[in-house]
Amino acid sequence: MNMKNLSPYLGAAYYPEDWPFEEIDRDISMMKKAGINVVRIGEFAWSRMEPEEGVYDFKWLHNVVDKLSAADIAVIMCTPTCTPPVWLTEKHPEVLVVHDDGTREQHGARRHACPNNPVYRQYCIKIVTRLAEEFGRDKNVIGWQIDNEMYPAQKRGCCCPVCHKKFIDAMRRQFKTIDDLNRIWGTDLWSQTYKSFEQLPIPRSDTWHHPSLLTAWMNFQSDSYVEFTKTQSDILQKLTNQPVGTDMMPVNGVNYYKMSQVLNVMQFNHYNDMENLWQAAFWMDFIRPLKQSPFWNTETQTCWNGSTSANGYKKKGFCVVNSWLPIALGGEANLYWLWRAHWSGQELMHGSVISSSGRPLHIFDEVKEVSEGFKKAGEFLNNTRPVKSGFAIHFSGYAWWLFEFQPMVNGFKYADKIINKVYKPLIESQIRPDIIDPASSLDGYRVLLSPFLPTLEEGGLIERIKKWVYNGGIWIVGPMSDIRTIDATKYAKAPFGYLENLCNIYCKYQIPGDPEDFTIQWEDGHKSDGSVWYDGFETRGAKSIADYTEGPLSGLSAIAKCDIGKGQVIILGTLPVREDLKSLALNASKKADIIPVAASENVLAVPRSGQAGSGMVILELENRTGKLSLKSAMRDLITGKLYNGDIDIPPYSVMVLKDV
Ligand SMILES: [Zn+2]
Repeated sequence: MNMKNLSPYLGAAYYPEDWPFEEIDRDISMMKKAGINVVRIGEFAWSRMEPEEGVYDFKWLHNVVDKLSAADIAVIMCTPTCTPPVWLTEKHPEVLVVHDDGTREQHGARRHACPNNPVYRQYCIKIVTRLAEEFGRDKNVIGWQIDNEMYPAQKRGCCCPVCHKKFIDAMRRQFKTIDDLNRIWGTDLWSQTYKSFEQLPIPRSDTWHHPSLLTAWMNFQSDSYVEFTKTQSDILQKLTNQPVGTDMMPVNGVNYYKMSQVLNVMQFNHYNDMENLWQAAFWMDFIRPLKQSPFWNTETQTCWNGSTSANGYKKKGFCVVNSWLPIALGGEANLYWLWRAHWSGQELMHGSVISSSGRPLHIFDEVKEVSEGFKKAGEFLNNTRPVKSGFAIHFSGYAWWLFEFQPMVNGFKYADKIINKVYKPLIESQIRPDIIDPASSLDGYRVLLSPFLPTLEEGGLIERIKKWVYNGGIWIVGPMSDIRTIDATKYAKAPFGYLENLCNIYCKYQIPGDPEDFTIQWEDGHKSDGSVWYDGFETRGAKSIADYTEGPLSGLSAIAKCDIGKGQVIILGTLPVREDLKSLALNASKKADIIPVAASENVLAVPRSGQAGSGMVILELENRTGKLSLKSAMRDLITGKLYNGDIDIPPYSVMVLKDV
């Protein structure tokens, strides 16, 4: 069987090393009943693959893959480098991560080896090469996962001597001379001036460090994981034709844009709950545009998640809608963590498809329902892709670090603010944005929103964006954007690096938004509060579209617009309330011929088109009835029912509507 014909894939992580071989046939027959057609294996099984140094055993793994193959279940093979065996860590304790307090991790955890350690890297190269030689041409293996959930350990990543030396080398390459580093970082204050690169410390979390040093250090940590991944990816690219990825998490750690450059397929894990399921859409809108090919959701829960304790029951239908979410948003695989609950080890309490005793969980029928739906809509899904709306929002891992070390306003959390206060209002309005890194191309976008983007120097953005606006783009930028250099210092000549000149404004005052909010009045006369941050602008050629009506900013512009070439810049001195941000985004969309689907705010509607025609995937994400208005007749490929006009969308329902 051609395993490619199985997509969209429904699968699970499976740990055959955890079970007697005799149990595997029973597990596989249960997989068939559930409709599982792909499993992810091997990610922690290094000590089974190489029980002693240089002694390899892949027979058991071949047996498992062959049994799965006989059952038409495809395999995503994982490299096991996340959990080095005890013979390795005993012989070379120096491969283990050192925390910023100087303590070294012990054997027994996971992702606790230093990505830069050359000894560990050599062992990784050997095991990955051997694994790829064994399975790189196996027709049942449809793809590869490198390691597991890579991000820097604890507060400051790995602080071992190897990492320190490599950081010093990286700074030397970047700044050339220590005088340049001192000048660019501004180290005269607090006697921080360095005489040599070797004096640069590891910025421990118990010391109040310079933000330029902190940002550079975490950026280096991110680069280290990307380089570690590349080492494995390069081996796999030679020994297999199947796509190679690494399963990523929605946390601040590794720069996903840079990571995407060394991979063929984006893989993503999420564990969102009933009350925040919509947030997973943010991350999928971020992962999707990183590659042309569809992403794989490599892990999610069937019901509860947790390691030593679980987070409890999800209402009926959650499993179905959660499983469809990645498919709706452009993925081609949804895999659960995990197939069969562990009987031993650290994560005994995590939800699964079947229990550790081999019995179906209460969601088993929901898993079956998902599998049947994937089959019914499969041809349409495989031959269409989500339509690019033309609307994008900037999101930057680098900005996340900058705000981590200098939040600017009490309690400001970068990702939370963008997801809850920017992304959410937009998706409630059925704007379907791509979330893009500052280094990403702007081609194909007509409206771009850059909130809380402290530096426009990242990825050479400012020059590209000027051209893009001049050629007709509408750029909504701010608040708190363009207020830092790439090296985490302020601009000394103006509060902004580029925006005053670009937008013909002068920023007279700036006031952090805690604890007081200020009222602004819009062009149409209505008043509302700003939030988070307050810039007061004098318009010097720009046109104000909202003015402050109180306090020291009274009479100054809070939001201004400026036509540039064929395009326009709208600068936000403050973050408008939900409804006003929606209006701004919808007006810009209208000008740019971006037409949202007519649906209520709890409905996710993702238009698709391609060889198999056009239509949209509809999900209800909040377990309450939603509304959708259709302009013409569409057929639900799951139920076969025909719909037109205004329709109710039942709680947690899924529809794959095709134009007829
Ligand atoms: Zn290290």
